[in-house]
Amino acid sequence: MKYNRCGKSGLLISAISLGLWHNFGNASVLSNQKEMVLEAFNLGITNFDLANNYGPPPGSAEENFGRILHEELLSHRDEMLVSTKAGYYMWPGPYGDWGSRKYLLSSLDQSLKRMKLDYVDIFYSHRPDLNTPIEETMGALDTVVKQGKALYVGISNYTVEQTLEASKILKRLGTPCLIHQPKYSMFNRWIEAGLQDVLDSEGIGSIAFCPLAQGQLTNKYFDGIPKDSRVETSGVFLKEDDITENKVNIARKLNDIAVERGQSLAQMALTWVLRKNRVTSALIGASRVSQIIENVEALKKLDFSDNELLSIDEILAHEN
Ligand code: NDP
Repeated sequence: MKYNRCGKSGLLISAISLGLWHNFGNASVLSNQKEMVLEAFNLGITNFDLANNYGPPPGSAEENFGRILHEELLSHRDEMLVSTKAGYYMWPGPYGDWGSRKYLLSSLDQSLKRMKLDYVDIFYSHRPDLNTPIEETMGALDTVVKQGKALYVGISNYTVEQTLEASKILKRLGTPCLIHQPKYSMFNRWIEAGLQDVLDSEGIGSIAFCPLAQGQLTNKYFDGIPKDSRVETSGVFLKEDDITENKVNIARKLNDIAVERGQSLAQMALTWVLRKNRVTSALIGASRVSQIIENVEALKKLDFSDNELLSIDEILAHEN
């Protein structure tokens, strides 16, 4: 495993992190969850990314992860980063959603109870809230660190301007923003238009979510939609309609470049996200152990030639 420094902090994060958004709720087999977490840790993945609402049902991914941690990995707690977030709908009424101090502080208390932990390593504001002063949301992040309930804080899905403002406030409070968690992949390059420059200048690291575009940047959909794919097993955030002929054709062309590099498309997609060290960690999801093994192998070939990058850009120019 390769460990990258997160922005200008003292924290190193594994270049691949494991996210528990899908396949770790109560609807998923616990033994498979356990195998995936243990294999990830064995391969050197240190960062496990959760959120209050991951499941289904919401909260169950934290409960299941907490169970696995306590049964199998407790003696390794200091070798791991446990991350969680609050910002999306979690409970009824005005205090279970968005970015108020009331919501963030009570949500982290609930997350700690579900995972049976005293602290998390990283606590995120999961999304910006235009109806709450950003000072209040950042103040809540500062409080959780001062309370000892989180070691570091981060933000997710914040725009360039919101990131700059959040960073200034957190610096003033004495709790610098450790990390930004944006969506980033060959199919979604929004962070290249300004966010990456702000993160560099503010000394903030980045962890790219959905680096495989939920499986679309793998060879999975080349021959139709398999029964055991996310489109079939969940179908909520990745639907049949998303698997367009154009997307699959582009993925096939990208796959040709990957094969020439001696990689699978999934491996090249992860390497691409990590290219030139501009992203601290690629945050993958997985439905089975073999995917984690394959994805970590991507780190064996991290370099790209200029020609390869140019060819990838040309292929992606036809994406819509
Ligand atoms: P990816 O883009 O990595 O997609 C993961 C899915 O792709 C897997 O579940 C699997 O789907 C498929 N896959 C993975 N590896 C392979 C492989 N080698 N070959 C073929 N198929 C493969 O990321 P996710 O969409 O899962 O998101 C990752 C994490 O990012 C989440 O768990 C969460 O922690 C975080 N996240 C954060 C958000 C935020 O707002 N901050 C929003 C969304 C995610 P299949 O079931 O088809 O096998």
